[in-house]
Amino acid sequence: MKYVTLLLSLIITLGTLLSQHALASSRSSKAILVIHGGAGTISPDKMTPDKEKAYHEALSQALQTGYQILHDGGTSLDAVEATICVLEDSPLFNAGRGSVYTSNGYNEMDASIMEGKTLRAGAVASVTGIKNPIRAARKVMEQTSHVMLVGDGAVEFAREQGLEFEDSAYFATPQRWQELQRIKEEEKTKGKYGSLEFPHTHLGTVGAVALDKHGDLAAATSTGGLTNKRWGRVGDSPIIGAGTYADNATCAVSCTGIGEYFIRGSYAREVSVLMQYRGMSVDAAAKHVIHDELVKLGGEDTGGMIAMDRHGHFAMDFNTRGMYRGYIGEDGTPHTFLYRNE
Ligand code: ASP
Repeated sequence: MKYVTLLLSLIITLGTLLSQHALASSRSSKAILVIHGGAGTISPDKMTPDKEKAYHEALSQALQTGYQILHDGGTSLDAVEATICVLEDSPLFNAGRGSVYTSNGYNEMDASIMEGKTLRAGAVASVTGIKNPIRAARKVMEQTSHVMLVGDGAVEFAREQGLEFEDSAYFATPQRWQELQRIKEEEKTKGKYGSLEFPHTHLGTVGAVALDKHGDLAAATSTGGLTNKRWGRVGDSPIIGAGTYADNATCAVSCTGIGEYFIRGSYAREVSVLMQYRGMSVDAAAKHVIHDELVKLGGEDTGGMIAMDRHGHFAMDFNTRGMYRGYIGEDGTPHTFLYRNE
């Protein structure tokens, strides 16, 4: 009798192990990458055909770079980091090279990255001179026991890690400088130093969410913040749960817009929470946050987000006139959009 029980329990254990193995090996997902290049007053009347083309091309290049990694069996974490680097290197977006100016004329950048499988995260805030702040964020995640480093401490750490630096000429974009001057002029009549009175300023933060073939999600966001922000101001982009979030159990999210609202509403995590506790789909949750919660907080016409669940369903939602955005999936073709009704 003893032997029969032993045999039975052996069979059960073996059965469980085999079915777990079968489950693990059947966990191969389709690879998908979704990006944004910022939400704001993006409308055809403010564009030229050349500019439109340049944005589509830059978004496509970023999508193709990240997708190649996913297609080759790489991780979603590697894919979002590589994708963000392409966008940070382009002067078209408000991140890395094209970062906007603070009120005293500097570029201070914020970035964060999160892995859905482990809930590990890394971030840097108020950094200057680092060519790709997203790389610094990943280093914080993998090489320290911290989640966020700021200012001089983050810059010193990035140097220690051997990351690339650039001088102020690299970050100097004439259009961003003119934006700062225009806002400073408006300020003279409208007042309110560093206020949120300028939602129509061209924004342009960048973000990426990815699902890899192993079924793992990741999210990343990088920004120069808001034009004319006070130096030392930190937005939502480097704050885990506000501008960036990833959890394999629910979704990966990257936000863009006036960060103060996204911090107060913890909107990236809010999407995850709505899915987890209310059973909402990623699409319904993102819509609810952007068109309901954000608007109720006073953030009408101020932002958007991309969000994706572990089955590859995704949302690209915004309440502004436009949002640079795109996705690439199984067909390997980048699909990119700029305006609202596309
Ligand atoms: N969310 C960013 C910030 O507030 C700005 C943006 O998305 O364009 O810093």
